[in-house]
Amino acid sequence: MDSPQNILLASEGLRVGVDDVRRSSTLICAPIMAESVDKMVVDMGNAKALGADLVEIRLDHLKCFNCSEHLKILIKESPLPTLITYRPKWEGGQYDGDEKYRLDALRLAMELGADYIDVELQVAHAFIDSIYGKKPEKFKVIVSSHNYQETPSVEALGNLVARIQATGADIVKIATSALDITDVARIFHITVHSQVSTVPTIGLVMGERGLISRILCAKFGGYLTFGTLDSGIVSAPGQPTMKDILHLYNFRQIGTDTKVFGIIGKPVSHSKSPILHNKAFKSVGFNGVYVHLLVDDIANFLRSYSSVDFAGFSVTIPHKEAALKCCDEVDPVAKAIGAINCIIRRPTDGKLFGFNTDYVGAISAIEDGLKGSHNSGSLTVSPLAGRLFVVIGAGGAGKALAYGAKQKGARIAIANRTYDRARELADTIGGDALSLADLDNFHPEDGMILANTTSIGMQPKVDETPISKHALGSYSLVFDAVYTPKMTRLLKEAKEAGATVVSGLEMFIGQAYEQFERFTGLPAPKELFRKVMDGSL
Ligand code: NAP
Repeated sequence: MDSPQNILLASEGLRVGVDDVRRSSTLICAPIMAESVDKMVVDMGNAKALGADLVEIRLDHLKCFNCSEHLKILIKESPLPTLITYRPKWEGGQYDGDEKYRLDALRLAMELGADYIDVELQVAHAFIDSIYGKKPEKFKVIVSSHNYQETPSVEALGNLVARIQATGADIVKIATSALDITDVARIFHITVHSQVSTVPTIGLVMGERGLISRILCAKFGGYLTFGTLDSGIVSAPGQPTMKDILHLYNFRQIGTDTKVFGIIGKPVSHSKSPILHNKAFKSVGFNGVYVHLLVDDIANFLRSYSSVDFAGFSVTIPHKEAALKCCDEVDPVAKAIGAINCIIRRPTDGKLFGFNTDYVGAISAIEDGLKGSHNSGSLTVSPLAGRLFVVIGAGGAGKALAYGAKQKGARIAIANRTYDRARELADTIGGDALSLADLDNFHPEDGMILANTTSIGMQPKVDETPISKHALGSYSLVFDAVYTPKMTRLLKEAKEAGATVVSGLEMFIGQAYEQFERFTGLPAPKELFRKVMDGSL
């Protein structure tokens, strides 16, 4: 019979409505890899405090291991169910000793009350035969296979699952390596199909390109995922921290009907979009998860993840222009800009729609700065009308700002490192072109507006600036698309020169508002966005 919570979920459709509803049975396991038993006991306590469901005790990491005495302590002292692993070097672990001793230790762990043990496929048949008739009722054997080179084809993975099941495994574990994010789709295929079998399956893909396997396993039927206690201390490449799993990606709220969103980029791990959108999804009770997507080839990515489960994406460097070509329909403004930063998948037929929301927040913040008051966006003439708007950069953000300002009636000049790109954009849009070197002596009039859309001044190169301080006196407002740091050298010097300054954070928040509303159909929680970005939430 349905629980009251389940009825609530069903009646609210995509809205979860209850903050801490757990929407899947996928477990979170914290690997415990300390070098001493005492430290392992401390770490197990930390794992429980952080929210793990079970701990994996990696015996092969202990510097000194007295089998019977230490196993008793570790199993008895654990505040959480225990998975005992004694990984040999030949399967990627640290143990380099006698096989009989290793397997005896695993048998003893079973007898001493461990909840699970992990045994490698290569030795699983003999091991499981050796404990036949002796297994405690709730005890489970995980039979694992690790591939540190690649992720095989679906057919090969299917055969591997069959071989593991044939050993008598209670749980199948397959860990492969991601050469491309699309490799993960094959592992999802395996875990989804495992749900109809009586043998649960753990399917994880190692490496940064495999990250989504560790998060979306809650949606695609994986038995468990691993979350580390500290960043950098991992038992396999690409493991996220417990904190990120639970509080960045809201793992407990991911279920089979959760819609997947994400930011497509390369690099992408620095992006703040996941924290922003996931906090916002949770705050309005929207049943979605937003993940980092390290993508090498966007067309290939969109082909592999073509189901309506993958409902929308943000797009960042270097994919904004290629993304446009992958869409079935593109918003006319985005088409004119030649780049998109947002893709929505229509649920009815899976068609992809591309938008460019990059300039919206920046242009309205610049208008606000010029007026010194909030722009209602109504019938009033934009304060940008007739002004000379100088854009530094001719890439995706440069084009977006130039088109946005042009639309508001500004006159445009483009300055770019590669002059030909400045010329091309200026010719298309109707404006002047400059080289970066010309910029310092460019002051045809006072009261101009300057927008830096290059990465100059971005962390870690915070001492760099695209224009010398003395030239800033001709500008009444200076905008910088860079938002790490919030106050760039350009903005500091512009302020000292008497200009109004607008931070790239406004652009970031503005594009995120727009995307959130397209993703969810709900109004964006603007205050929450600001708090997340200024670090107060
Ligand atoms: P993009 O398409 O790759 O364009 C980069 C532009 O920067 C090009 O004009 C490039 O000049 C120029 N550039 C790069 N490195 C330079 C250097 N060392 N010296 C001089 N010029 C340089 O990238 P994008 O998407 O437009 O993004 C550009 C910047 O805007 C990034 O820092 C990004 O983080 C920021 N951004 C911020 C937001 C926000 O929400 N605040 C949104 C989008 C982008 P060439 O043509 O000569 O290569």
